[in-house]
Amino acid sequence: MRIEEILKKRRSGESLSRAELVYLLGLPTDALETYMVMAEANRLSTKLSGGKAEVHAQYALNLAPCSCDCLFCSFAKINDIFHEATELTVEQAVAHARRFEADGANAVFIMSTAGYPFERFIEVGGEIRRNLHPGTTLIANVGDQSVKRARMLRDAGFTGVYHALRLREGTDSTLSPEKRKESIRNFQEAGLEVGTCVEPVGPEHTNEELAEMIEFTASFNPAYSGAARRIPIPGTAMAKRGIISELRMAQIVAVTRLGMPDSVTGNCTHEPCTLGAIAGGNLFWAEVGANPRDVEEKTEEGRGETVNSCRAIFHESDLDVLDGPSRFYNRKR
Ligand code: SF4
Repeated sequence: MRIEEILKKRRSGESLSRAELVYLLGLPTDALETYMVMAEANRLSTKLSGGKAEVHAQYALNLAPCSCDCLFCSFAKINDIFHEATELTVEQAVAHARRFEADGANAVFIMSTAGYPFERFIEVGGEIRRNLHPGTTLIANVGDQSVKRARMLRDAGFTGVYHALRLREGTDSTLSPEKRKESIRNFQEAGLEVGTCVEPVGPEHTNEELAEMIEFTASFNPAYSGAARRIPIPGTAMAKRGIISELRMAQIVAVTRLGMPDSVTGNCTHEPCTLGAIAGGNLFWAEVGANPRDVEEKTEEGRGETVNSCRAIFHESDLDVLDGPSRFYNRKR
């Protein structure tokens, strides 16, 4: 039986080939073999993370129509969801970060739209850093950057970044795939850990595309990889393409785990769910404020989960959650 050979190969520490990843992704979601893949990914994630899942918490410094026009994003100008530009005051930004820290988030993420001034991001980020416990892991989710700017993020007190080459980048977005890849190299050169993901997955993505993206994320030894499905933004052209099921997402999360080297201990999935957790997902996100997958200005009134609800989903999946700063992001310390 081919599945047993593939799982045995991965268990021995060998990496899987593109063809093997495609094979695993192509199994029917209700096949016994898919549950074997999910169980193996869960076993491996638990082993590599010392049995400790993590909850990271993200909020946006601003909400604004964004001219980068990524078709899957509610901030994209073309999607005509948000019309006013607003931004948090420094006090509000600090308060959100401190709330997440008090809630026990293992890392605090600050994001902005691509048009938010970088200097302002550094200024506000530095102020947030000064108001957090020195051990709290602070992460930036920003647009493409040069090495010089990546160093500025590090000097402002950020441990790492989230950065992804999104599926069909350059076709479903106006961003350059090469620039996305270059930025990942720049962040790493500046000493920032990069977390990433295979996202946003929709029903139209082929198993070959997914396998290629899994291999790309594995190629730069990220703090974590994982998989997230696309959430349709109502009324947009992309919403017509539909959404994959949580079970299909769980299958992709599991295959992504098996496609990563053992040095990558984190495996994220979004949005949080027990199926993703039992398929090897050991990183969820809590969110407040503006959220590119939501049409509510305050995602806590919409799709956003809290640190506590993310923890509860892990506990429902029989997984423990880490207390303290992220181990996924602090591998080198
Ligand atoms: S994903 Fe980022 S760059 Fe793309 S439209 Fe949304 S905010 Fe702009």
